[in-house]
Amino acid sequence: MSSTQTKLKTWQNFVNGEWVSAGSGKTTPNINPANADEILGYSQQSELDDLEKAVTAAREAYPGWRKTPSPARGKFLSKAAALLEKRKEELAKALTLEEGKAFQESLGEVQKSINILEFFAALGRRLNGESIPSELPKNFIYTKREPLGVVALITPWNFPVAIPAWKAGAALIAGNTAVLKPSSLTPWTASLLMEIFQEANLPKGVLNLITGPGSVLGEAIVKHPHVRAISFTGSTETGRKLQALAGAHGKPIQLEMGGKNAVIVLKDADLDLAASGVVFGAFGSAGQRCTATSRCLVEESVLPAFTDKLLEKIRPFIEKMHEGTVGPLVDENQLKKVLHYIDLGKKEGASLLVGGKRMTEGALGKGYFVSPTIFTNVAPSMTIAQEEIFGPVLTITAVKDMDEAIRISNDVEYGLSGSIFTQNINQALDYVDDIEIGVVHVNSPTIGGEAQAPFGGMKGSGVGGREMGHQSLDFFTEWKTVYIDYTDSNRKGNLY
Ligand code: NAD
Repeated sequence: MSSTQTKLKTWQNFVNGEWVSAGSGKTTPNINPANADEILGYSQQSELDDLEKAVTAAREAYPGWRKTPSPARGKFLSKAAALLEKRKEELAKALTLEEGKAFQESLGEVQKSINILEFFAALGRRLNGESIPSELPKNFIYTKREPLGVVALITPWNFPVAIPAWKAGAALIAGNTAVLKPSSLTPWTASLLMEIFQEANLPKGVLNLITGPGSVLGEAIVKHPHVRAISFTGSTETGRKLQALAGAHGKPIQLEMGGKNAVIVLKDADLDLAASGVVFGAFGSAGQRCTATSRCLVEESVLPAFTDKLLEKIRPFIEKMHEGTVGPLVDENQLKKVLHYIDLGKKEGASLLVGGKRMTEGALGKGYFVSPTIFTNVAPSMTIAQEEIFGPVLTITAVKDMDEAIRISNDVEYGLSGSIFTQNINQALDYVDDIEIGVVHVNSPTIGGEAQAPFGGMKGSGVGGREMGHQSLDFFTEWKTVYIDYTDSNRKGNLY
């Protein structure tokens, strides 16, 4: 090991309120995707013993946390939100270095995480049940939400602060304790988030972090007898495997998975607005958002004018890539995958309008940068129009009318987000009615979501209920129904 390597940090696990090394002593380098020569630090490869310790800590913390009144639980989350605000730039810098997001976008993600924690903190004051009338005199029924116990949170690399924040926020405010297993590609941001909870004095064991390969830990987490439920965000492929395993063990699982999100541009749309929305949605975060715009379905009469607008908007992004307009792909695997799909698009007969290559010149050549890529003449059945690419690649397909656009839009395995650009309110609302997605936008990009609104997808994009919003409690709690009889001892009038 060289002397430079020894100075680099190895991000540890956070178990029972302490930073601890994984038993195996094995690590993997955390590489800066904008400069593959730079190692940022090392990610620990935890194993089953480490998982056991984390679950035990969460289990021991559960009775105390469960009994802590939910408004008091919320205070820890508001403190964490305030600390996150204070350390916003530090987290955003780490996020950009580790995951590759442009710095402004990283700041946006941290801000979103602050909003999320503030929202969940306040939700602690609204963990309401219902009061229900009884058929019997002097009786009433009420319901209350109960936490599940120890829950596992398995998260991806593409929103390494916001997704752990929204899963932990919902799980904890509901009274669960948790074990967080982030992606091995983003241990740094996960550790910073844990530092924030530690600084907020969250009681020990309430939230624990273990890093390591999903292939080793994932299955064990789902099967662990003391893990009561699993909330997963990641690829549809991994999600489906975990769903089968959770089903076999009779456990609830929430899955937020991939997307193949389409924008529909109708002939009466503000084409300038639509082109800006598509460029922002398709190429922001280098297309590595689950809600990224991946397909564009355009009414044929405005296709030439819309394509010109798109080219006009994308040009500055391409010309200024060295200034950070479009970040890198997260790692070499992702780079290979995206280049494979670009190659496939050409082979399938789509026309490459712009981009289509890895950036090899100057500083960009050291990272995993791919030029924003647009294919036209894309048939809806082509692989590039069906499968999630998760990179800066957009397909354009001409359509006769809105009905055809909705049919094509729905004809994929996914159903996460989508958007329509039109000035016709009736068509916009018909679209809202008929589109099979969980997050619908009108005259705005396919991306984004606010803490107080439910988020998630239909079909192959999501299973097991929504995240964020008060609806997130539906996964992290179960209902207890309570019957109260306040008749006197003679039980007059009652059935027994
Ligand atoms: P991934 O499925 O490879 O990994 C996600 C998490 O699962 C990681 O922590 C990983 O270590 C773990 N994992 C991997 N294999 C596992 C296994 N066999 N058992 C258990 N856990 C395992 O996904 P990724 O590449 O990190 O993330 C990108 C994907 O996430 C994209 O498909 C994207 O659309 C999706 N995503 C969805 C949403 C949403 O809300 N719908 C949000 C963000 C990302």
